[in-house]
Amino acid sequence: MGMREGTGVLVIGGGPAGLAAAIAARMKGFDVTVADGGKPPIDKACGEGLMPSTVAALRALGVAICPGDGQVFRGIRFLDDRTSVEASFSGASAFGVRRTVLHQKMVERAQECGITLEWNTPVAGLCRDGAILGATVVKARWIIGADGIHSRVRRWTGLDAKMRQEMRFAQRRHYRVKAWTNCMEIHWGQKAQAYVTPLRDNETCVALISRDPRMRLENAWRELPKLTGYLCHAEPCSAERGAVTVTRRLRQVYRGNIALTGDASGSVDAITGEGLCLSFHQAMALADSLEKGELESYQRAHRKLRRWPNIVGRLLLLLDQYPPLRKRALRGLSEDPELFAQLLAAHLGEASPRFLASASLRLGWQFLTA
Ligand SMILES: Cc1cc2nc3c(=O)[nH]c(=O)nc-3n(C[C@H](O)[C@H](O)[C@H](O)COP(=O)(O)OP(=O)(O)OC[C@H]3O[C@@H](n4cnc5c(N)ncnc54)[C@H](O)[C@@H]3O)c2cc1C
Repeated sequence: MGMREGTGVLVIGGGPAGLAAAIAARMKGFDVTVADGGKPPIDKACGEGLMPSTVAALRALGVAICPGDGQVFRGIRFLDDRTSVEASFSGASAFGVRRTVLHQKMVERAQECGITLEWNTPVAGLCRDGAILGATVVKARWIIGADGIHSRVRRWTGLDAKMRQEMRFAQRRHYRVKAWTNCMEIHWGQKAQAYVTPLRDNETCVALISRDPRMRLENAWRELPKLTGYLCHAEPCSAERGAVTVTRRLRQVYRGNIALTGDASGSVDAITGEGLCLSFHQAMALADSLEKGELESYQRAHRKLRRWPNIVGRLLLLLDQYPPLRKRALRGLSEDPELFAQLLAAHLGEASPRFLASASLRLGWQFLTA
């Protein structure tokens, strides 16, 4: 097996988390190589909603999302067969952006920073001082595993030994239809939710997520009458693409000189809309730790970063699991839309703990009286 000149940081996986980690490390002056088995722009089933906090994190990495990249949306709307409740973001805008557009923008930023990008290059394993890329060993001072939800780096390093997880199944498709909404909509059915994101050029992204692995978009329409009304004459303009979304927490996200990031390092359910934002913040925390020359501070930052998205994810999954609870919660929120706006602000990190405590008390009251 051949041996190649080493690199400061080798990132395994060039999806959004890997590119973010590479850009953040490069911004600290490291020499960085990214290896990915695919070729850009890499697509993936995703809700394609970039929350204001996600757009801000991208900006900090030097990736500016502009109106031409996607469709601005102003808030979140929850709907079921009877109730509709919505809240606007308090500050900056959110964007619906095709996954391939986001990937391409991140690739361009990585190129501009001087990162070495190796596409069509699956990593086959780790070895003493580096990793095996095809038939070559590449030495690296630091290795970052950003190889997604089914991470092999996680397995190779034994970091998945003590993990807890809960899995749901997703299907995503695009429809050619003029946006009927300026919000990201979450349509709640008995056994599934559909996440609807307006994109540019009269395109709409629909991602259906269910605990049932057999659930497909065509058999979900019965459950989601309002959405069916909007989409019944719309022409699909992409093939259906499947994925899983997993709530997974790892005890440890690094071993020796190898750190995990993004979905490889544990994930929150897609229902939070926070997966990308979380991985961009992890990237920045990881680069800070690399600069210090240790990974324990990354472990601490990682734990802190995922605490709140994890709580929100768990609460929303309870609404998915228990329909009577969901009906009560939606009814309560529809009677107090201001409360929904406060909860959304707290979720996006725009609210203080005091503000959050008062919103929680109001939520409890609404819940009891709805
Ligand atoms: C249905 C659904 C909807 C979602 N909606 C949203 C949303 O609206 N907003 C949001 O913020 N988040 C959303 N998420 C979450 C978000 O998509 C993920 O958090 C994000 O994709 C994580 O990125 P990643 O780079 O960690 O993983 P990935 O995007 O999976 O990238 C991993 C990369 O690693 C590469 N790779 C794997 N193995 C190897 C190997 N051995 N060698 C080299 N390369 C390898 C792959 O080719 C891939 O490019 C959603 C997720 C799902 C499933």
